[in-house]
Amino acid sequence: MRLVLLGPPGAGKGTQASAIVSKYSIPHISTGDIFRANIKNGTELGKQVEAYMKKGLLVPDELVVSIVKDRLTKEDCKEGFLLDGFPRTVNQAEALDKELKDMNLKLDRVINIEVGKEILIERAIGRRICKNCGATYHVKFSPPKVENTCDKCGGELYQRDDDKAETVEKRIEVYQEQTKPLIDYYKEKDLLLNIDGTKSIEEIFYDIVASLEGDF
Ligand code: ADP
Ligand code: AMP
Repeated sequence: MRLVLLGPPGAGKGTQASAIVSKYSIPHISTGDIFRANIKNGTELGKQVEAYMKKGLLVPDELVVSIVKDRLTKEDCKEGFLLDGFPRTVNQAEALDKELKDMNLKLDRVINIEVGKEILIERAIGRRICKNCGATYHVKFSPPKVENTCDKCGGELYQRDDDKAETVEKRIEVYQEQTKPLIDYYKEKDLLLNIDGTKSIEEIFYDIVASLEGDF
C-alpha cells in the first residue's frame, strides 16, 4: 500500500502514522522526523534546515525532494510506504508523481486528516516527544504514565522548538497558503480520503482503516 498522510500541523498525522504502518507493515517516512534527526546529529543537512524549521517555514523543495526520492528507492519501500508530512507543496507533489511514474508505481490513497485551527493549536502546544525513541504524547490528551517520562523506553520528554504558540500559528498560516492546495490536487486525481480528525485517536484510526478497506 502506497499512502500519503495530509493535514495541518498538529492534526495527528504522526500519531495515526504509527498505527497505520504497524497494521500494514510498511515503512513510515516522515520528512519532519528525518530533519529533526539530522539536526540532532549535527549533519550538514541539519544545519541547512534548522533555521527554516525554527521559524515555522517550509524547507526549500529541492532539499526535501531529493531526500524523499532517495528514501523511496530503498529495499523496504518495495511493498509500499506511508509518507507523513510530504508532499507539502504542489511542486513537491508533482516531483513525487514524476518519481513514482519513473519507478512504474502509483499512490493508492491520500488520507487527509481534517481539524480546525483551535484544536490544532491546543494539540501542538501540548505535544511532547521522547528524546530517545521519538514517541509522541500530549500533556492533556495522551499523557505518559509518569510525568515527562516515555512509557515505552523511559526516555525524557521534550517540547519541539516549533511547538511554541507563535510558531504554531505561523505553521498553520504556511499550511493554508502552501499545503492546502494539495487537497484539490489529490481530489482531482480521485485519491483523497477525508477523515474527521476531531475524534479520539482510536476512532480516527478505525475510520482510516475502514475507508482504506472500502467499508464506508
Ligand atoms: P502531526 O504529526 O499532524 O503534527 P501529531 O500526531 O504529532 O500531529 O499530534 C499532535 C499532538 O496531538 C500530539 O501531542 C498527539 O498526542 C495529540 N493528538 C493526536 N491525535 C489526537 C486526537 N485524536 N485527539 C487528541 N489529541 C491527539
Ligand atoms: P513536521 O514534523 O511534519 O511537523 O515538520 C516539521 C517542520 O519540518 C516543518 O514545519 C518544516 O519546516 C519542515 N518540513 C517537514 N516536511 C517538509 C516538507 N515536505 N517540505 C518542507 N518542509 C518540511
